[in-house]
Amino acid sequence: MKFQVIRLRTLLLSAALIAALFVFCLLGNRAILTVSGQLQQHGTPLILIDPGHGGEDGGTQSADGILEKDINLQLSKKIEALLHARGLQTQMTRGEDTLIYDAGCKRMREKKVSDIKNRMAMIEAAPDCIFLSIHQNYFSDTACCGTQVFYSPNNEKSALLADAIQKAVITAVQPENQRVIKPSGKEIYLLYHAQVPAVMVECGFLSNPEEAAKLTDEDYQNKIAAAIGDGVCNYLNNKQS
Ligand SMILES: [Zn+2]
Repeated sequence: MKFQVIRLRTLLLSAALIAALFVFCLLGNRAILTVSGQLQQHGTPLILIDPGHGGEDGGTQSADGILEKDINLQLSKKIEALLHARGLQTQMTRGEDTLIYDAGCKRMREKKVSDIKNRMAMIEAAPDCIFLSIHQNYFSDTACCGTQVFYSPNNEKSALLADAIQKAVITAVQPENQRVIKPSGKEIYLLYHAQVPAVMVECGFLSNPEEAAKLTDEDYQNKIAAAIGDGVCNYLNNKQS
């Protein structure tokens, strides 16, 4: 009798395990859980858009005081709207003018470390996402201009994504741009550590007065955002074909 009860328990446990495995395989093949908790089909990964800096951290700035954090957020919102309109699932690391640090952080250094760790956690919470970080550049030579895309060294798809975006921007907005994509070093923490396809788009140089003025112009922002969106879509289309 005791033996039969144990056998029955073993049978029930096995059935439960098989059922759990079946559900797991079904989810694994057909869908992933995104950081926002929504189910998302494979083949159309979540695009995690990261407007660099924010809040107390303005990033770099132009001679007349245009802050990088503001341009980053404006462009990111436009890119998000464009990708969303094309049926892609998107998420922003920040949608407001703020850093994303834990409560209790007081000194600036503490806030920045906490912020970067929290952005990293968002990448890690969506292991099938594409990470798109938006920044503006600065260099002592004020003649330097043009978009340049940096990519993560950890995932071979990162270079393909970077190349697609660099080409799309050159084709649509900056035909004279000779810049080439570059792998990131340790100094770009998020790219250096991200395991997903990850790029950082330096959209332009705030140190160049002419380009800084363009980067605040609504029409120019729309063109750059559309080109970056096209680059992401070209990458996705090529990956699937
Ligand atoms: Zn930056």
